Amino acid sequence: MADKILKKEDLAKLIASVTGKGGRFVAPTTAARQIVFKKVSKAEEIAPDYILARNSFKEFLFPQTEVIAEFTVCKDTVDMRGVEVEAPETVVFGARPCEAASLAGMRALFTWDFVDEFFTKRDDNTVVITVGCTKGDEACFCTSVNLSPESTEGADVYMRETEDGGYAVQALTDKGKKFVAAHAAVFSEGSAKARALFMPEKVPGVDLKKISERLKDKSHYDNPVWKKLAMKCIGCGACTFVCPTCRCFDITDEGTAFEGERRKNWDSCQYDSFTLHASGHNPREHQPQRWRNRFMCKFNFYPEKFNSKGCVGCGRCIRVCPVRLDITDVMQEFSK
Ligand code: SF4
Ligand code: SF4
Repeated sequence: MADKILKKEDLAKLIASVTGKGGRFVAPTTAARQIVFKKVSKAEEIAPDYILARNSFKEFLFPQTEVIAEFTVCKDTVDMRGVEVEAPETVVFGARPCEAASLAGMRALFTWDFVDEFFTKRDDNTVVITVGCTKGDEACFCTSVNLSPESTEGADVYMRETEDGGYAVQALTDKGKKFVAAHAAVFSEGSAKARALFMPEKVPGVDLKKISERLKDKSHYDNPVWKKLAMKCIGCGACTFVCPTCRCFDITDEGTAFEGERRKNWDSCQYDSFTLHASGHNPREHQPQRWRNRFMCKFNFYPEKFNSKGCVGCGRCIRVCPVRLDITDVMQEFSK
């Protein structure tokens, strides 16, 4: 049930209203022949007809790389200095309902045994506006992981495109309601006919409960499927970087031996160095083990540990994989 209408011509005013108050407005736009989430300043920059952006909006909460401290090695001690967290007021516009659902898992991880303020401060200052999907492709499978283009998990504001080019607006959270109130001048009262949503077909045979049960039994470690996947997988890590739920990172020190900065960088469980110990031992030395870990993380570790989805069915990993590996094939294999 829509609360308000955002007319087509008023999207530009919304962007101006957000940026005029010093905020950043992030939306899907075209760059290097792809649709990507980027900061925009004009409505014309927003891609008019997209399925979903190639990248996830997670990078605006959890950047690919960032400085988390600076250090100087002194004679008898190390001077370690914290840095200010950059957490600008941010509006993510045009996220799809599947990817917004990834936020629950992100929040669980980044507040689990340690509150990571680099994530939480940005999350606090971000309003997520999802827009229900009116188109999709064969890689979309949100309906197989109990989501749909109507899902509202993780969204502060949910919008539906209307047939006249505007949006029907529903503020969901307190943050979303405050956002709509703060920019009240650009929203209108009324109603408009919403465009039909694209509902992906369910992947035949997929049974999440069965997958979870089978992954609890370690006998699957010897399942030939892991070797079969790894025969093709080149370990590029692209699937993990585009995934809205993947949040692994590494900490590195950069600079000279005596002074520099400590950085937090995205890492990928698909890299052979991901679990390499300083001793030289690597508990996941081979690609089948790494593929198995990625799948277990999505369908066993996250649901078990955080009661949240490890996979939201966005299909990004399928679209980006250079050797066309498809996670839904593995879901089918473990649904038997
Ligand atoms: S595993 Fe693939 S389909 Fe699932 S959330 Fe990640 S990118 Fe999307
Ligand atoms: S994108 Fe494909 S090839 Fe690259 S690590 Fe992922 S599964 Fe392997």
